[in-house]
Amino acid sequence: MDKELIKKLANDPRFIPGVYNYCDRWCERCEFTSRCMNYALSEDEIDNPQTQDITNKAFWDQLHDIFKVTFEMLEESAEEMGIDLNAIDSEEFAKQQEQIRKTVKQQPYTKAAFAYTKMVGGWFKSNKDLLEEKGNELLSLAQAEIPGARPDKEALKIQDCLEVVRWYQHQIYVKLCRAASGMIRGELENNEYSPQDANGSAKVAIIGIERSIAAWGGLLNHFPQQEDSILDLLVHLKGLLRQVETAFPDARAFARPGFDAQGKLDDSQ
Ligand code: SF4
Repeated sequence: MDKELIKKLANDPRFIPGVYNYCDRWCERCEFTSRCMNYALSEDEIDNPQTQDITNKAFWDQLHDIFKVTFEMLEESAEEMGIDLNAIDSEEFAKQQEQIRKTVKQQPYTKAAFAYTKMVGGWFKSNKDLLEEKGNELLSLAQAEIPGARPDKEALKIQDCLEVVRWYQHQIYVKLCRAASGMIRGELENNEYSPQDANGSAKVAIIGIERSIAAWGGLLNHFPQQEDSILDLLVHLKGLLRQVETAFPDARAFARPGFDAQGKLDDSQ
C-alpha cells in the first residue's frame, strides 16, 4: 500500500466519495465495485493469495504497511487541521474510550444484537445434520433427473438464504456498536458529525436485519420442521428492529453515498 497511490485514487472522479463508509462490505454482491476506492485498493491484495493467509509473512507485512500508511496520513491530516496529537492526554483518552465501550455494550439493542449472534450460532450447530440431509436429498433428486423437478433451484435458494444469514450474523452487532458509539461520542464531544455517522451505521444494521428476516423467512419455507426455532429468531429480529428504529429515528432517512439517491431506504444495492 502506497500513500501517494491512495491520494491519487482519492481524487479520481470514477469513485463515489465515501461509498464504502456505509455499505455492508459484501463486495461480491455490490454494484459499486467499479466506483469504490476501497475495492480498487483491495483488488491487488485479493489477487495475491499470500496476503489473505494469516499464517503467511506477507499477510503481516501488508498489515504493517496499512498501519504505517494510515498513521502517516492521520498525522498529516492532524497537522492540516492544527491538531497536536502529542497534546492528547492518552491516559484520559483511554479512560474515556473504555467508558464509551462499556456504555455501548449496555444498550438494549447492542445486547439484543449480540444475543442474536449467539442464537444463530446455536441454530447452525443444532441443525448441522438437517442441513447435510437436505443437501444429500437434493443431490439424490438431481441425480434421479425427475422430469419437472428442479432441486438445483431449491439448493440455490437455500444457499442464498444461508449466506445472507451468515453475512449479517455478526455485522448487525458490529454496526450497532459503532452507531451507539457515535451517538455517545456526539453527546460527549458535542460533535455534530458523530450522530450523523451513527445514523449511517444504524441504517446499515437495519438493512442487515431486514435482509436477515427475509432470509429466515425463506429458510422457514424449506425447513418447516424447524418452524419453532426459526420463529424465535424472527421474533427476536423484529424486536431488535423496533429497538433500533426507536433509538435511531433518523437512520432510515440517512442518505448513504451512492446507495441512496433520495435518502430513502433503498434495498436495491
Ligand atoms: S461499497 Fe461495495 S465494493 Fe466498496 S467496500 Fe462496500 S461493498 Fe465493497
